[in-house]
Amino acid sequence: MAQRTQLLPLWLTTAHRKGFVVLGPEKLYFAFVPKKQKTGDSMASTPRPVESLQDPALDQLCDRLAQLASHLDSEPRWPGEQMQLCVQYGVFRWFLPKEYGGLGWGEPELLQAYYRLGAACQTTAFILTQLTGAARRIASSAQEELKRRLLPPLAQGEQLATLGISHLTTSRRHWKQPPLLAQEVSDGFVLQGESPWVTGACASQYIVLGAETEDRRQLLVVLPTDLPGVEIKPPVPLVALSASCTGAVACHRVHLPRKWLLAGPEPGLMRKGGAGATGGLQTSVMALSLARAALEYLSQQAQRRPELDPPTQHLQAELDHLYEQLLQLAQGNPVTSKEHLRSQCNSLVLRATQAALAAAKGTGFVQGHPAGRWATQALFYLVWSCPQGVMEANLCQLAGVESELGA
Ligand SMILES: Cc1cc2nc3c(=O)[nH]c(=O)nc-3n(C[C@H](O)[C@H](O)[C@H](O)COP(=O)(O)OP(=O)(O)OC[C@H]3O[C@@H](n4cnc5c(N)ncnc54)[C@H](O)[C@@H]3O)c2cc1C
Repeated sequence: MAQRTQLLPLWLTTAHRKGFVVLGPEKLYFAFVPKKQKTGDSMASTPRPVESLQDPALDQLCDRLAQLASHLDSEPRWPGEQMQLCVQYGVFRWFLPKEYGGLGWGEPELLQAYYRLGAACQTTAFILTQLTGAARRIASSAQEELKRRLLPPLAQGEQLATLGISHLTTSRRHWKQPPLLAQEVSDGFVLQGESPWVTGACASQYIVLGAETEDRRQLLVVLPTDLPGVEIKPPVPLVALSASCTGAVACHRVHLPRKWLLAGPEPGLMRKGGAGATGGLQTSVMALSLARAALEYLSQQAQRRPELDPPTQHLQAELDHLYEQLLQLAQGNPVTSKEHLRSQCNSLVLRATQAALAAAKGTGFVQGHPAGRWATQALFYLVWSCPQGVMEANLCQLAGVESELGA
């Protein structure tokens, strides 16, 4: 698809003055490419692994993802081209230790990388959070044999692993029975039930999966997706991010040898946190990255429409403040709580993306315009990985009352 598209500057409408129209093979669609990005250069460059946050290859990757973002998401079709770019630019290496072929980036660097990628393409960046969350959970386990075998191909992107843990944290917690039951047998476990939300299972060789014993001790396993009894259900069409190919994974009496056990069984295993924990900094930075995309658009509009300037500057100052707090937390400085930050990021992303849509007016409401896409994608933060406290704070914000996490 990329080779067959043409990028033309759009001079015709004020709404897209600083963007580009992409002429695709079948239809006309919008791609918003901020002015500072060099569209022509990045289209021509050969992909090569990104070595640091300052590496120009990271700019190229973000340009390419931004250009492809406009025609993603209308249906649950896996974004193979975007994933291939991530492999070519060495993205999977950032998240894993050097001894397994990774670059061993620390939390602050990874958050900054997500801030860039998420502004370019929410769907790709979200998928990466799940894939790399799985890989990082394997890396932080004590299972040396599994780490030696699984991590090098995951670091190269030759194989993929994804996460199915929400039924132990934020989904189906009001159920009387465990949604995914693990029965202990002499050489391992028999898994029965369903993990309701798994992103990209259709493209993954492994799922880092949560399960519970009858007495609700929690365990984390690596589930090879080709084991007998594993059923990857068709991805569900979503309000946004459909291309993440998210759906349920069922286990029909899957016999899993003990060698695949990552952690547990023990009570409250998931409360220990670690990579991919709910309400963590990664979800917050993803929300900020989307607010960033919307504000880049707003500031470009404001250059010709001075009435947009005060609200844009106000929102930008809020974004800068929250991003600074996020990086402080990542460096271990307790400037606020993670949950409070998350609820503030949720609030900002909703307001910033709706501000972009308001500025784009009816044109922004046309399918394919980025402002409409960003506004619907922002709704995801109301439901993704929200622990109870964050969910309650969201509701209080919407109701205009103070929450326990603070205003
Ligand atoms: C696009 C998308 C991708 C995702 N990807 C992943 C992934 O890759 N891996 C992963 O682990 N997770 C993933 N998640 C899961 C996500 O992080 C949350 O866990 C999920 O959104 C929680 O929603 P739920 O409907 O399952 O919650 P539930 O709490 O199960 O709510 C379901 C319904 O139950 C009812 N209900 C809720 N609480 C109660 C109660 N206390 N009493 C009575 N009724 C109640 C409500 O009517 C609600 O609609 C994804 C979610 C989405 C939307």
